Amino acid sequence: MFDIDAVRKDFPILSREVNGKPLVYLDSGASAQKPQVVLDTIQRAYAEDYSNVHRGLHTLSTISTENYEAVRGKIADFLGAASEASIVMNTGTTEGINTVAYGWAMPRMEAGDEIVLSVMEHHANIVPWHFLRERMGVKLVWVEPEADGSLPAEKVLEAVTDRTRLIAVTHMSNVLGTVVDVKAITSGAHAKGVPVLVDGSQGAVHMKVDVADIGCDFYAITGHKLYGPSGSGAIYIRPERMAEMRPFMGGGDMIREVHRDEITYNDAPMKFEAGTPGIVAQIGLGAALDWMTGVGMDSIAAHEVSLRDYARERLFGLNWLNVQGDAPGKGAIFSFTLEGAAHAHDISTVLDKKGVAVRAGHHCAGPLMDHLGVTATCRASFAVYNTRSEVDTLVDALELCHELFA
Ligand code: PLP
Repeated sequence: MFDIDAVRKDFPILSREVNGKPLVYLDSGASAQKPQVVLDTIQRAYAEDYSNVHRGLHTLSTISTENYEAVRGKIADFLGAASEASIVMNTGTTEGINTVAYGWAMPRMEAGDEIVLSVMEHHANIVPWHFLRERMGVKLVWVEPEADGSLPAEKVLEAVTDRTRLIAVTHMSNVLGTVVDVKAITSGAHAKGVPVLVDGSQGAVHMKVDVADIGCDFYAITGHKLYGPSGSGAIYIRPERMAEMRPFMGGGDMIREVHRDEITYNDAPMKFEAGTPGIVAQIGLGAALDWMTGVGMDSIAAHEVSLRDYARERLFGLNWLNVQGDAPGKGAIFSFTLEGAAHAHDISTVLDKKGVAVRAGHHCAGPLMDHLGVTATCRASFAVYNTRSEVDTLVDALELCHELFA
């Protein structure tokens, strides 16, 4: 049984005030707050169990390695991956997608090959592909969302040609909240022999993910949005794709032997994890995933659907507010601008005075901003710990903005 009061009590920061008002944190799409168990795990990992991993034979190194490596299995379970050997641990989605761009795409693609992207992608799932465009002449093929922000799988598949080498698409838009049918995209793409990379930065936070069911080739997640520490994350890589990859970063841990004229690599997935990893961040991510699993992904999703419905009703009720995107089944993320001259930054500043934290700007989604014909929006992004009364506080604060700027 989902108990919002118990959930909120797990997050110490939610009891603080901002500008003399109770904090209403609606910026979890940028980074989520951390439950006490994650904070305790970090403290313990440093205070009691800390040492470098993998290379030591002493007790603390063994404990630290066990705690760190246990997270690989937790991530595999969380994502529905059949084997933890499919999980490359890293600092988050940006590193995950760059690993695919440098390690899988660059050695395999040539000038004129195509990568299909949606216009809704975050820069993390755009810029690495621009590198291939700039440096190798790979062509980026863009698919626009519909007017309501939805992205039909057929539309993405229609963009596939015999030069398409990859479809790279988000599971959930960080600006519009649109949830993309990545399973339908993957099955259609695979029928044409095209691999699919899914940016799961937002999707994995809000719904149960099963990479085996989706069937995708790559699924990237970022720990700090999953109630875990910043600098933690992972990418699921399908075994066939992993076998095709060459290492992206070189250094310790990813090698087996190094000589003057020769090197041999470690087995995958370690082959793609160079240098001392974010040991404690990753151990903290393990605690965050355990926490989410304890609450239950179905309960988290159901709570957020109810919040989305309530926020949708209240925000669309404000006829001076331009809410961007209203795709069926979208997540609890709302981007908006205010009629009149008020800039998103001004709105965000006024909201902050009322204790309401939202994000204002381009949300690292330049092509989507161009498509929407705006330079910036305000974004309220909801999480497991938000409440309907916080939606009301947001609406009250927006009404104040309307009075000030109308
Ligand atoms: N993709 C999406 C959809 C995101 O929302 C974000 C973060 O805002 C990222 C990628 C990048 O994540 P990170 O900066 O943690 O690598």
